[in-house]
Formats: sequence, structure tokens, C-alpha cells
Amino acid sequence: MMKNETLLNIANEFGNPVYVYDAHKIEAQYKRLSSAFNKVKNVKINYAVKALSNISILKFMNKLGAGLDTVSIQEVKLGIVAGFKPEDIIYTPNGVSLHEIEEVAKLGAQINIDNLVILEQFGNAHPDVPVCIRINPHVMAGGNTNISVGHIDSKFGISIHQTPHILRIVKNTGMRINGIHMHTGSDILDIEVFLYASEILFETAKQFKDLDFIDFGSGFKVPYKRGDIETDIEEFGEKLTTRFKTFCKNYGKELTLAFEPGKFLVSEAGYFLTKVNAVKQTTSTVFAQVDSGFNHLIRPMLYGSQHEIINISNEDGKERFYSVVGYICETDTFANNRRIKEIKEGDILAFKNAGAYCFTMASNYNSRYRPAEVLWYNDKAHLIRKQETFDDLLANQQIIEFNTLSKANK
Ligand SMILES: *Cc1c(COP(=O)(O)O)cnc(C)c1O
Repeated sequence: MMKNETLLNIANEFGNPVYVYDAHKIEAQYKRLSSAFNKVKNVKINYAVKALSNISILKFMNKLGAGLDTVSIQEVKLGIVAGFKPEDIIYTPNGVSLHEIEEVAKLGAQINIDNLVILEQFGNAHPDVPVCIRINPHVMAGGNTNISVGHIDSKFGISIHQTPHILRIVKNTGMRINGIHMHTGSDILDIEVFLYASEILFETAKQFKDLDFIDFGSGFKVPYKRGDIETDIEEFGEKLTTRFKTFCKNYGKELTLAFEPGKFLVSEAGYFLTKVNAVKQTTSTVFAQVDSGFNHLIRPMLYGSQHEIINISNEDGKERFYSVVGYICETDTFANNRRIKEIKEGDILAFKNAGAYCFTMASNYNSRYRPAEVLWYNDKAHLIRKQETFDDLLANQQIIEFNTLSKANK
């Protein structure tokens, strides 16, 4: 956890609202995951760009030795700008056009296909490009259907029951399948559920003779609020390592074991700092109204996520109950009836777990600027994105002067 004093200094120096990321925490999480699998010869951790896509964060991931997991051609290009070799980038789109997939293949990234029709078209046109296949193991990992993507009704992946059809396409087109992949969702509560899904992945992988890697996706859970369960990475590493080694022995080849964590690497490294504009007593509660809204951090409204909130301006104060809300002209509640150290106007609140899916989901709703981002690295704060300005709001708009427009000739 970063010190309150450090966070306060950053808010003073760079203004607020502001996102702050602790590079040391990112590194610690990366090392924790890699060391849990240090008995596997080839391990690849591909960071999921969509969690937090700032170029400096990507460069830091590159420095740590990570690859990238991407879901759009733009993310692939950001990765290349950040210095990644295309072959260290895996592209796992869903519902994109064949054209975009072909463009990404031209860039040289690893293609991961999750649709039979696309697989057949791609294989016909580019039998020489090796492809990974995203399967749907039909396992429900975690309790929240918004973020569980391996279950039967999910739009993601090719059903394991369609494996015969995949094999027929591979044979007919002469394409090579070099990887098998699953990503069962962002909320794995239970290692046993993950291992169960892994068995299904192994069963499928057995049927493909030319594999280089098996990609187990992500879904590592990090604690958001006190008492939350966290995935026991060490226990998980031990169990999956044993199983993976046995598989490789039977398969007759040392495959690469791949993961693609987003949240696990960056969630806890992030803090969102915002100032309290007003404290408002109503008949039912006390509102702390902050200088931000769901335009900057939408997870509580979108997913019901509980980000812990601390008053870093009043460390030693008495605790009281608050509802923390934003300035958007809609209900934008960050927290309901939350115990927080007594809040005054002008205090700075820090939202925890603000590294993953926070800035990347920010918008300009209510014509507000997206905030600055700061990276805390080697005991120094580095600005890695400026706050937007009024010019940014106008940048792509084509302004029509109605008075000078003539009517079309009849
Ligand atoms: C979003 C995503 C991830 C990352 O999930 P986290 O829960 O953030 O770890 C990994 N793989 C794919 C294909 C994704 O879409």
C-alpha cells in the first residue's frame, strides 16, 4: 500500500482527480505469479492490455518480461509502439471482422480465433499462418454472470462439443493449430473450478498434434474489500504445474504454459484520488460529493464493484458513515453507507483497486475531461498522461456554420 502522505503529495503536485499506479506493486504481482510456476520450463505471462493500456504501463510490462494479451487491433498497435515484438502479442478478439484479424496477422501477432466460421475462412485464405483456438469449456467460474464467460450461454469461445468440426476444418484447410486457449472469466473463486476447466482444456489439446502452447487465460481474483477471497496463487501454481508436466510428458513435447492476467497485475497497484466538493446532509444519509463521477470510474455503477475508499486527508479522524457520490447528472454512487474517517470539504479521498478497468473505461460524459495518470516508480512520481483539456473535447468535431450553408438546388 502506498503511503497516504505520498498520495497526498501527488494530488497536490499533479492536481486531481488523478490516477496513481504503483510500479512496485505491479512488479511484485508479476513476480508472485511467475514464481508460482517456476518449475515449468516455459511460462509466458501475457498482460491483458484492456485492464490498463497506458503506454508507460505497457513498457513497464515489457521490462518485466511479460507478453501482451490484446482484444483489438488498436491494442496490438499500442503494444508495438510500447516496444513489444509482434510474436509476444496474442490477439484474442470476439465478434470482430475477418478483415481486422487479417490485418493483425500481417502485423505478426499470434492469432486466437473463437468462431468456427472465421476459423474456416481464415484457414482457407491463410493456411500458412498458425492459429490458436479459444474453446469454451462450459464451466461457470465465479458467481457473477456479467464477468463469467465460460458458461453455456456465453458468446465467447468455440464449444468443446464442436471439437470434431474444428478438426475437420483444420484437415480441410491444411492450417496449423499451435495453441489451445480458454478464458473463463474474471472472477475465479475456487482453484478446484479452474483445475476442472483445465482438465477439459487438456482433453481438447490432446486432439491437436502440433501445439506449441496452452493458454489458461485469466480470472485470478484480487481482494477488493475486507474479507474478500483472493486466489491462492501459490497453491494453484503447485497443482497446475504437476498436472501440466504430466500432460506434456504424455503429449511428447515441452509446451509453453501461458496466462493472460489483467486485474491480478494492476488492480491493487492503482489509486484514484479525488477531492470532496461538498458534504450534504439529507433526511436519510450524509453524502460526500466528490469532484468526479462514473465518467472516471464506472465499475461500482456497472458491476456493483466495491472499491474501498479512504480519507487520506484525515488519517486519525473518527469514523462516520457516508454515501460517496459523484457530480454526474444521474445517480452515480461510488459507495453506499460506507464507514470512512470523518470527511470535510476539500479532503482527498483515495479509491483503492483503481488499476484495472478504471481509467480504460473512462469517458467524457457530461463533457468532463479524462483525468491524468501518474506512475510511482523508484520513489518518484512520473506523469504518464496529462489531464485532457477543452481542446480535446473539440478535437474531432466538424463545426457547421448554419448561417452560411446554402440549400441544395431543387
Ligand atoms: C479481459 C481478458 C483477460 C483479463 O482478465 P482479468 O480478469 O483482468 O485478469 C484475459 N484474457 C482475455 C481473453 C480477456 O478478454
